[in-house]
Amino acid sequence: MLTLKSRREIELMRQACQLVAQAHRIIAEMVAPGVTTAALDRAVEEFFAAHQAQPLFKGVEGVVPFPAVTCISVNDQVVHGIPGPYELREGDILSVDTGCRLNGWCGDGAWTYPVGRVDDLKSRLLSAGQGALKTAIQGMGTRKKWSQVARQIERSVQRAGFSVVEDFVGHGIGRDMHEDPEVPNYVCEDLAERDFPIKPGLVVAIEPMVNVGTPEVEVLDDHWTVVTADGAPSAHFEHTVAMTREGPLILTEGLGA
Ligand code: MG
Repeated sequence: MLTLKSRREIELMRQACQLVAQAHRIIAEMVAPGVTTAALDRAVEEFFAAHQAQPLFKGVEGVVPFPAVTCISVNDQVVHGIPGPYELREGDILSVDTGCRLNGWCGDGAWTYPVGRVDDLKSRLLSAGQGALKTAIQGMGTRKKWSQVARQIERSVQRAGFSVVEDFVGHGIGRDMHEDPEVPNYVCEDLAERDFPIKPGLVVAIEPMVNVGTPEVEVLDDHWTVVTADGAPSAHFEHTVAMTREGPLILTEGLGA
């Protein structure tokens, strides 16, 4: 069931989302060769704790519960990477995804960061991923149905010569991190059945994942880390966005900037 949020609820969500954006700014400042992904995770955990925000990712159920407050996915890792002893290297890209609940309302956001100088391919991948997210948010303001936006996202990624991951989608968000509707970033056969209208009060986490090569992915033996099937790099950009009478409002504004 799709629930629309009131202006007051959207404002409460914006406060949670702004903590997510601030957590990302901490990450952005820390990212450098030699820094471990565990250190990045620890900084976000401490930041949320200091603001009485509940981390949303730690303990998420799976074959094993997710052990960290961020997902950190490096290079060919797509999503759900587990922070650990890995030390970042010049030329890596890392996708950081995190979320929190503040006063009962959730925020969720992801960004892919370059470590120092990255090669031309990765640089174009980051641009394409950011472009896909931007296209989606603009599309929310001009289209009536999500299926039309999904088509625009896919087209923007294909035009850049890359592919959209289809195994994972965005989601509605509110009191819970994952609510209806599912928010696909691609055109699929059952898109018409999964379609939903874009109207004021709709709040969604839009999160295109863009691969350099094949859209196919695999899950590693840790039961969480999703990698590209061909080992080529992947990028992930996500904003929590509310539709208002004035147009789309990016609740996680400032994230990644
Ligand atoms: Mg999300």
